[in-house]
Amino acid sequence: MKPRAGSKALIREINEALVLDIVRTQAPVSRARIAVQTGLSAASVTGIAGKLVHAGLLVETEIVHGTGGRPARLLELGREGVFAAGVRLSATEAHAVVVDLRGEAVATHSEPLASTDPGDAAAAAARAVRAAAGGMAPRLIGIGVALSGVVDQASGLVRHSGAMDWTDVAFQGLLEDVADQPVIIDSYVNAYARGLLFDGSFKGRELIIFSVGTSLGAAVVVEGRIQRGFNGSAGGFAHSRAITGPEPARPCHCGAEDCFETRGSLWGMQRELERNGHNREVNPDADSSLIADAALHLGIGMANTAKVLGPEQVVVGFAPEADLGSFAEQTKQAFLCQYDHANTPPPLFDTAVAHPVALARGAACSVLAGLFTARESQPSDTEAGESLPA
Ligand SMILES: [Zn+2]
Repeated sequence: MKPRAGSKALIREINEALVLDIVRTQAPVSRARIAVQTGLSAASVTGIAGKLVHAGLLVETEIVHGTGGRPARLLELGREGVFAAGVRLSATEAHAVVVDLRGEAVATHSEPLASTDPGDAAAAAARAVRAAAGGMAPRLIGIGVALSGVVDQASGLVRHSGAMDWTDVAFQGLLEDVADQPVIIDSYVNAYARGLLFDGSFKGRELIIFSVGTSLGAAVVVEGRIQRGFNGSAGGFAHSRAITGPEPARPCHCGAEDCFETRGSLWGMQRELERNGHNREVNPDADSSLIADAALHLGIGMANTAKVLGPEQVVVGFAPEADLGSFAEQTKQAFLCQYDHANTPPPLFDTAVAHPVALARGAACSVLAGLFTARESQPSDTEAGESLPA
């Protein structure tokens, strides 16, 4: 860690985060090992661990006997000390998940939205969290919210959400007032990425996570951190322009034409079916050429995006409604074909089904992450991180 000129409280907070993160990633772990790993003195580790055990964030577990030394109690994360809530917001419902300190979902609840009015959405999100949290409510440390669109997390603004029909909605502050909790807002794909990062299931620290559903999204991860871009606009591959041909331009809901969104998203495929006078439901068998065209364009867009960053791994989360027959496999093959380079091997490429609960859980993990990360070193990802109970 670099020396900091902050207050004692800040240093204490940083050291607590260091200790918690070692326990999170290496549990069960001894105080002695934590001291070695963090560079803190044994006395400091004992003091911090005592406070964290008292607050229920750590628990003592098995006792190990060294060769001739004193028995040592190992530390694990506590499951009962604090909880975080996550909400996946859509135009019709607020789906809430409560997770424990390890990020494991312990309760869920869904509330319908009266309308997409921001006040109605905030009220539904708060109700869903209250119902899911039940008796855990006093131990909640915050609420993460995932919603579709361009989200400027640092300023708490939803810049644009087509699904909610919002422009520049200060949803973070709105929900904080209604729910009386610290709130972090994020896009669907960043929330999804947040959950995957929390689980540490990736190879490497340079990653791109794409989401394919009604709309498209991309989370860009550099050195293990989600990149936000100016005004939250990083990862906007959905509205970059796909190749154009002799066929008529396809207007996009963003105001431009022929975006990847018009070719590879479920919305784009449905619009194409409607334009051709068909039912808008995409059928994996009857609409195989439409799906193949979508997969090809996704492969092109994803390969172009990946080549700019050079990630070690690419993950594509398909929403359940976009899990259409061989769509995921075709997208993978198109990506590998489009990425083809004689001297540069492609990144690992994985596909998964991204269920709504995974987005809500990821949003909750954004809140947890604030406990495990020193605030100054990761300002964008930890701004709503609360200091621990004294
Ligand atoms: Zn567009």
